[in-house]
Amino acid sequence: AGDDDAEIREDPVSTADGTEIEVAANVGTRKDLGPATERGADGIGLYRTEFLFLDRESPPDEEEQYEAYVEALDAFPEGRVVVRTLDVGGDKPIDYLDLPDEENPFLGERGIRRSLGPDSDLFETQLRALLRACGSENGGSSDSSDGGLAVMLPLVATVEEVAAAREKMAEVADDLDDEGVEYARPEFGVMVETPAAAFVADDLVERVDFFSIGTNDLAQYVMAAERGNERVSELGDYRQPAVLRAIRATVEAAEGTDAWVGMCGEMAGDPDLTELLLGLGLDELSMSAVTVPQVKAAVTNVSLSDARELAAEALEASTKDEVERVLTNSTLS
Ligand code: PEP
Ligand code: MG
Repeated sequence: AGDDDAEIREDPVSTADGTEIEVAANVGTRKDLGPATERGADGIGLYRTEFLFLDRESPPDEEEQYEAYVEALDAFPEGRVVVRTLDVGGDKPIDYLDLPDEENPFLGERGIRRSLGPDSDLFETQLRALLRACGSENGGSSDSSDGGLAVMLPLVATVEEVAAAREKMAEVADDLDDEGVEYARPEFGVMVETPAAAFVADDLVERVDFFSIGTNDLAQYVMAAERGNERVSELGDYRQPAVLRAIRATVEAAEGTDAWVGMCGEMAGDPDLTELLLGLGLDELSMSAVTVPQVKAAVTNVSLSDARELAAEALEASTKDEVERVLTNSTLS
């Protein structure tokens, strides 16, 4: 089980049978960068950029965003930095954006839906800042394997959204070319946090370099149980068989392709589940910096072949209780 005093491991870790697993941190502001490096994160698996937009009167301009992204890249010169484009709406209000009054904001205009709709100007500015940051010293580029910047879209549900966002990014690159501004093309991926994305993952994977599974929203939408609502928290638990199967379907869609699959929801930071997650086929886990040492320790104790058996058993379970019983067989618990 989770060991609160786990040693800090600065270097990437591998399973007991030698597969390297990226253990990264989720960050929201520059204040989170210090703890992420201090706790030994290999990179940033989720930069929640909405925090750059909160508690102010107007959105950050291109230069301010560029500096924030470069600062994150400089904090991890060898690691990957996955920056999620603005994810507002739902539970994430921002006053000056004039969000609509919706009866079901979690099912409304949020995430990529806003970036391709009413916030398209903000999206363009953010993409400009991101492409420029990718061209900076530690920005890497989509064809380098040594880390660098990755751009990730929130709340994707359709192939068209991914195609539209890609096109927007290509337009931004053309503009930067025309202006003679230095930039590079980042890795490009999507969050899998809607059931739709999990169902069409085999189509999405042809258009991305990676998936990152957002279990906070994925569990909410798969189970139709609002996140944070205690009355339905058992139902919305990521140990539900339906959630595990959605995760597995996503990983399976990427198998045999060049795409990697990570997880950046709360589930990724639970060291009691590390064996299960590696068995399900995840390549990367990203979490609050606090739990990085415990999860790194857990990774070193996992045998992938045992983990795959554990995952296969968990996928057979028909209730959450059964999943939990299977998990008591995890060598880590
Ligand atoms: C998620 O939904 O799992 C996720 C990581 O994103 P957020 O918690 O910011 O919605
Ligand atoms: Mg989410």
